[in-house]
Amino acid sequence: MRYQAPKGTQDLLPAQARTWAAFRRRAQEVFSLYGYEPIETPVFELSELFTRSAGESSDIASKEIFSVRSIGALQKMAEGEPLKADQKLALRPEGTASVVRAIAQHNLVPQGGAPAKLFYAGSMFRCERPQKGRLREFHQVGVECLGATDAVADAEMIIMCMRFFESLGLKRESMTLLINSMGDENCRPAYTERVRSYLKEHEDSLCEDCRRRIDDNPLRAFDCKNESCRKVVDGAPRFSDNLCDACRERFEAVKGYLDAAGIGYTVDPRLVRGFDYYTGTVFEVQVKDGLGSQNAIGGGGHYDKLMGEISGKDLSGLGFAVGFERVMLALEAAGIELDSGAPRGVYVVCVDESVRPTAFSLMQQLRDAGIPADGDTQSRSVKSQFKVAGKGNARACVVVGPDELSSGNVTVRDMDTHDEQLVATGELVEKIQALY
Ligand code: AMP
Repeated sequence: MRYQAPKGTQDLLPAQARTWAAFRRRAQEVFSLYGYEPIETPVFELSELFTRSAGESSDIASKEIFSVRSIGALQKMAEGEPLKADQKLALRPEGTASVVRAIAQHNLVPQGGAPAKLFYAGSMFRCERPQKGRLREFHQVGVECLGATDAVADAEMIIMCMRFFESLGLKRESMTLLINSMGDENCRPAYTERVRSYLKEHEDSLCEDCRRRIDDNPLRAFDCKNESCRKVVDGAPRFSDNLCDACRERFEAVKGYLDAAGIGYTVDPRLVRGFDYYTGTVFEVQVKDGLGSQNAIGGGGHYDKLMGEISGKDLSGLGFAVGFERVMLALEAAGIELDSGAPRGVYVVCVDESVRPTAFSLMQQLRDAGIPADGDTQSRSVKSQFKVAGKGNARACVVVGPDELSSGNVTVRDMDTHDEQLVATGELVEKIQALY
């Protein structure tokens, strides 16, 4: 084979593409119950939007961005000329920064206005080392709510995320909901310093990446999968013991709302998530079986400063994203098939060339009546046409043969019961409709 899909990408073949559409529809159904509306943003944006919002030292900004350059920009680079900011574009690694940018650009939350509640679905791109459940192009659905300030909004967001997973068929007991508070500008700097000093004391037991993180962004060490780093991190000061009063009260309130809604959770003091913009409540949903180390199927949290970074005007926000491919792996492991609503159509079997014009016209009539219809375009034998119809999971076959047609009839075979009946061509649409 000369060409293959690039490393870390995969084609969504018809069955998977249909499932992805069903996944998006389900997301829309659940999220719209909570007042969310759809938004579509560009697949690429200024690189800076992503690097600044995720944090320059985050894995995403420092090594996972796919840069986009026009040919003109590349020529400029080759000639040693610096690029202008608008020539430095990147494929989106996530949806939040783009949605927040769009909300700011179109002033969707005017002074004193109600929160903007938006959801998106699409491809995200991260140059990661591909493995099971980790791709370079993957699909997410996500939501962002900008302008809500109360703790109840954090709880509602988490509840909505869990409801979405349940609506897909995942059982509550097969998932673990981890929550934490990452503090805010009042308590996070002092806490970060405490973690920095602690990590310095244990520098010898840390991997190279984490040693670098001590100066850049010590909290990132919490995410490290290295066994020795995990041991060190286990003994690190905990965020929960270092929150300011406002953050502690808010976190308690969020837990209270989750308790009231009967949503079980585990407080994980190590949960920091991969983006620097989070403040306050963060959460992650993991599945217990079937995904190995890439077991997070979704996560998100609260962010106070992102809108300010992007637009200069602070507005508190919160959101989450769910990974389609990982949820599919989790559903597969649990033996659950998402009903993708694949339509079962009618296959029109053409017995010989003399009846082809009639078969052609019947097919059009069926389609005009809203019934999916297909037929032979390869001059196959009748037997082979039936095989194709079976493979395509046809609901019925309409057999157009010269003998029956001479008296104005065709044969309809119910592909489930194998019953056959003669039907006048003028009544075909009605008869087929009755099968559905
Ligand atoms: P994040 O945007 O990093 O908060 O991730 C949200 C969700 O997207 C994760 O819980 C995963 O389900 C999914 N996800 C993130 N990165 C990848 C990836 N490289 N490949 C597949 N799914 C991913």
